[in-house]
Amino acid sequence: MAGAPASERDRRLPCRTVMTAEPKTPLTILLASPRGFCAGVDRAIQIVERAIERYGRPVYVRHEIVHNRYVVENLEARGAVFVDELDQVPDDRPVVFSAHGVPKAVPAEAARRRLHYVDATCPLVSKVHREAERHHASGRSVVLIGHAGHPEVIGTMGQLPPGAVLLVEDVAQAEALEVPDAANLAFATQTTLSVDDTLDIVAALRRRFPAIQGPKLEDICYATTNRQAAVKAIAQRCDALVVIGAANSSNSMRLVEVAANYGCSRSRLVQRASEMDWQWLEGARRLGITAGASAPELLVDEMIAACRARYEVTVEEVRTIEESVVFKLPRQLVA
Ligand code: SF4
Repeated sequence: MAGAPASERDRRLPCRTVMTAEPKTPLTILLASPRGFCAGVDRAIQIVERAIERYGRPVYVRHEIVHNRYVVENLEARGAVFVDELDQVPDDRPVVFSAHGVPKAVPAEAARRRLHYVDATCPLVSKVHREAERHHASGRSVVLIGHAGHPEVIGTMGQLPPGAVLLVEDVAQAEALEVPDAANLAFATQTTLSVDDTLDIVAALRRRFPAIQGPKLEDICYATTNRQAAVKAIAQRCDALVVIGAANSSNSMRLVEVAANYGCSRSRLVQRASEMDWQWLEGARRLGITAGASAPELLVDEMIAACRARYEVTVEEVRTIEESVVFKLPRQLVA
């Protein structure tokens, strides 16, 4: 039969088995919007890219510019070198400070060494720094609501002398807090906290210290607030919900908690599609997807494509608010 044309060969077969693909299980993806990059992250990444263009490679970056491995590796490929501390930066190379902000001692040390530095601190974090300084200058003790050890908290505490900031992580700590002078007290918050948890902590502080001063709304930024609101809008409709983001990204972790608190207990953080545990999704017909403020949209696209390879996917985007915030780049990198 080797010489016969294919169609003739097929006609001579006694019986043909027609293979048909199994129909895929339907899956509706509820895509939370807004999600992913915020204006502060976008600005920080642009700062590193422009610094490399302007000063050549390598440009040093103190700490992960934003908490996302994909972003960091991409910038490394372009010529960024990420370090933990300034003493790893050579005297003749520029250094960028991350979006989370740095203690005052860091730019002071850079200036002492005459390093060329560019500050990529998000302007909304800088605003909290200025608030803390203003309260301290007015003789108030500052209570900072935030997570111990997070770079933003270290940066904000480092705006004031050691011991001047009292850190409170939860309601229990707010209830137990001892202050030097209850009449001279103010609070500030990390920008990426859970809106609901923070309201509870602020309520406890206000009840215990009625004279405490603070922002009308907490310092939680627009991007954190909006991403949490978008998750709240879809959580009840989802059988499972995936937050694309990194475990050390505070705002991403809060999105997982918000999903669970608002009706989707099967929610988890996934760095990217290749790390997805598909067994975990078994039986789900509606999957919520969102992304933390430091996760690029490309990783969301990748997750949807991975779902399409396994399911008959329908995507429904649920938008709760339009965002149009843009932050200017530092003057030294413009023009
Ligand atoms: S999450 Fe908020 S505070 Fe943090 S970089 Fe984005 S806009 Fe700025």
